Amino acid sequence: MTTKPRPRGLSKSKLLEYRQCPRRLYLSVHHPELKQESDDSQQNFATGNEVGEIARTLHPEGILIEQQSLSAALRETVTLLAEKPRRPLFEATFQHSGLLVRADLLLPAKRGWHLVEVKSSCEVKPYHLEDAAIQTHVLRSSGINVASVAIQHINKQFVYPGKDCYHQVKRNGEINSLFMQEDVTGKLDELIGEVPKWVSGAQATLAGKMPPPTGDCEKPFPCPFQEFCYPAESQPEYPVTLLPQANGKKIAANLLEQGYVDLRDVPQALLKNETHQRIWKVTRTGKHYLGKGAAVILSALPYPRYFLDFETINPAVPTWKGTFPYQQVPFQWSCHIQRRTGKLDHKMFLDLSGNDPSRSCAETLIGTLGKRGPVFVYYQSFEIGRLKELAARYADLAEELEAIIKRIVDLLPIAREHYYHPDMMGSWSIKAVLPTIAPDLDYANLEEVQDGGAAQAAYLEAIHPETMVDRKREREKQLRVYCERDTGAMVRLAQFLTTGKTATTKRRKIP
Ligand code: SF4
Repeated sequence: MTTKPRPRGLSKSKLLEYRQCPRRLYLSVHHPELKQESDDSQQNFATGNEVGEIARTLHPEGILIEQQSLSAALRETVTLLAEKPRRPLFEATFQHSGLLVRADLLLPAKRGWHLVEVKSSCEVKPYHLEDAAIQTHVLRSSGINVASVAIQHINKQFVYPGKDCYHQVKRNGEINSLFMQEDVTGKLDELIGEVPKWVSGAQATLAGKMPPPTGDCEKPFPCPFQEFCYPAESQPEYPVTLLPQANGKKIAANLLEQGYVDLRDVPQALLKNETHQRIWKVTRTGKHYLGKGAAVILSALPYPRYFLDFETINPAVPTWKGTFPYQQVPFQWSCHIQRRTGKLDHKMFLDLSGNDPSRSCAETLIGTLGKRGPVFVYYQSFEIGRLKELAARYADLAEELEAIIKRIVDLLPIAREHYYHPDMMGSWSIKAVLPTIAPDLDYANLEEVQDGGAAQAAYLEAIHPETMVDRKREREKQLRVYCERDTGAMVRLAQFLTTGKTATTKRRKIP
C-alpha cells in the first residue's frame, strides 16, 4: 500500500509568493540558494520591522508573543487568548491545515477580536487584501471570532511634531496621527473563500515539478529569482522589451506574441511611435543619433551655469521635527559651476551630523547658486520637489528658493528628444547615458556607492552612533565622490549635446 505524502506546511508569506508566481514559491522552498536579494528589499524589510514596532507602542498594555519555536508560540497564543481581561496581542500565532500565520495586532473588540495588519505603505494595496484574507481564514478556522479586519498604514499627512511625538500620539488617543486604519472586513468575503484553493494549489506546486516562468516578476514585489529565470546570456542582445514609455510595454508584449524577440528583427512598419522608430533605427545601424535641436537650446543659455544634484533620505517614520513620512530630506548637494571661459568650479554640501540637514542645505545652496544663471538638473520634478519642500518649511528662505526653481533647466527631456545611443537600451537615466558619452565617468568605476539607494545606506551608516570613525570617513568619501560624479556627468552631457564631443575640463575646487 502506498501512503500519500503529507502536504507541506506553508506560511502566509510563502502562500503570497505562490500568489505572485507558483515558480517563485517552488524556488523559494526547493532552491533558496538561487535567491538574489536586493539592497532595496532588505531596506524594505527593516522599514517594515520599525513600523511594526511603533504600531505596538500605541497599545502599551499589549503582549508580544516572542517565542522562537513555533509550538511554543502556538501554545502561548492559546493561553493569552483565554486570559481575562483580554489584552492586545502582538504576533499571535495560528495554524490551520498546515497554514501558519502571525497576526500583527489582535485587539479585543466588543464581540470577538479586531484583526489589524500593519503596513509601511501609505495606502491599502490589492495584495494587502489577500494577506488579510489569509489571516482571517486561518484565525476563523482556528475558532477565533474575528469581528473586524483593518489594514493599518502610514498616514502621509502626519507631520512629526518633535521629540516624544509618539507618546503624545498615544496620550491623546490619536492613533490616526501616524497611522490610518482602513476597515476591509466587507472586502474580504470572496477572497476568504478562495484561500483553501490557494493552499491546495501551493501544496501541489511544491509536490510537483518546477513550474514555468510566468513573467510576473515585479508585482507586487520584485522577485529575487530573476537572474535564475532570465539569465542575461539567454536574452537577445536588444530585446523588444527595451522599448520605453508611449505604451512600450504593451507594444513589446504584442511583438513577443508575434514571435519577435530582438528589436532589430522587427519590421519598421510595426513601430508607429517616433521615439520607438528612432531607437529601432539606431539599434539596427549601431550609430548614435544626435539632433541639432539640443545645441540650439543649450547654446542660447547664459553663464555662469550651475549643475545641481541632491542626495536625500526618506524615512518611513519621520525623524526630524516638521518632516512627514517618506519625505525626501536632502542631506547632500553637489554643484558644478561653469563660466563662459570654460572654467569649472565645484562646491558641495554634506551633513553627516545626524541632525536635520534641511536648513543648512537650503542656506548653503542659496549662497552658492547666487541670483543669475541657469541651474541644470536631470529630472526636474525631483529637485523642484525638494526645493518646494524646503521653501514650505522655511518661510524666510522661500522667496530665494522659489527664484532658484524658476532658473531650473531640465537636461532629461532635451537628451530624450535629441540623443540616443544603442547602448542606452531604451533608457535615458543618467547612468545609461553617461557611459555612451564619457566612459571615464562610468558609475561602475565607483566603490560601494554607485546609486541613490547605496548613497542612502552610506548616509545611514555614517550617522549611526556606533559607526567607527574610519568607516565614517570612508563612507563620507564615497558620498562625496558619488554626488560629484552626478553633476560632473551633467556638465559632460550638456557639452556633448552642444558640440557632439566630450572633453575633460580642469576644475578648480573652491575651498
Ligand atoms: S523571476 Fe519571475 S518567473 Fe521567475 S520565479 Fe520569479 S516571478 Fe516567477
